[in-house]
Amino acid sequence: MEYRPLGKTSLRVSVLGFGASPLGDAFHQTDPAEGMAAVHLAVDKGINFFDVSPYYGLTLAETRLGQALLGRRQQVVLATKCGRYGVDQFDFSPARITAGIEESLTRLRTDYVDLLQAHDVEFGDVRQIVEETLPAMLRLQQQGKARYIGITGYSLRNLMQIASQAPVDTILSYCRYNPMIADMDAELVPFARQHNIGLINASPLHMGILTERGAPQWHPAPQEVRDAGQRVVALCRQNGVDASQLALRFCLDHRDVATTLVGMSSREHLERNLKALDLRNSPQLLSEIQKTVAPVANLVWPSGRPENRD
Ligand code: NAD
Repeated sequence: MEYRPLGKTSLRVSVLGFGASPLGDAFHQTDPAEGMAAVHLAVDKGINFFDVSPYYGLTLAETRLGQALLGRRQQVVLATKCGRYGVDQFDFSPARITAGIEESLTRLRTDYVDLLQAHDVEFGDVRQIVEETLPAMLRLQQQGKARYIGITGYSLRNLMQIASQAPVDTILSYCRYNPMIADMDAELVPFARQHNIGLINASPLHMGILTERGAPQWHPAPQEVRDAGQRVVALCRQNGVDASQLALRFCLDHRDVATTLVGMSSREHLERNLKALDLRNSPQLLSEIQKTVAPVANLVWPSGRPENRD
């Protein structure tokens, strides 16, 4: 396993990170025992970065991850989030953030998290995030409840707007860099480099679009993006390549990204994703994929408050 520094933090994270939202049945129902076995195997194989949120499965993912990490907590870099607690439930107030971490720590069965992230900040008010939420998170950091703090979201402009007004250690963006889209590179990557902010790239499979199973029903992408994704999956299949592995490998090749977070809840997916560490993508196939995706390349969907959208 390769490890990279997470920005200017003292943390070194595995290039392949464990996204724990599927543990909360965020995509479909999963077997808790299998999820736990996947977490154990991931730790054994050197994956040390685990990302979760109270939102995933409405606390279920945190509970299951906490259980799975019993006895293994010291081997991992544990990241959770605050501010999002349901599909339409956001509360970035200091009171909720302060109460939220205590609830998360109880579910995760630990005294501290390594990284606490304000979750999906484009659903909040920029001023509140900058002047209230992040200062509250800093206080939690001073109390030793979180070693570092960060922000996550879909709107790249909003993430940079916030990070240029308040210090953050990390930025997590999702569905903005994978074979379907690469607009993270235009501004967020140079911004993160300039400020030495740890960059976390989530959803290398475009939240399930680049899988044989296809996207879950709740996926926010327009139909033409889902269709293009399925054409990519078919093209890979014709070439004897697994689209999910290709997509993950594509993301792992990004040198500015500290860790690529893929959602997992089974040993089968974990094993396949670990194999991607040793693969090389064919430039010819990648260029065919680029042509397939071209009509929807960099197509984004609305997320968050209108004033915060891209
Ligand atoms: P993803 O692109 O990683 O896709 C996950 C889906 O693909 C799941 O259904 C999973 O079962 C399936 N899968 C995983 N490996 C596979 C394989 N080898 N073959 C076939 N299917 C496979 O999307 P994601 O889970 O949304 O993103 C990864 C993680 O990043 C999340 O779990 C979460 O931790 C984090 N994330 C954070 C935010 C945020 O903070 N706003 C947003 C999105 C994702």
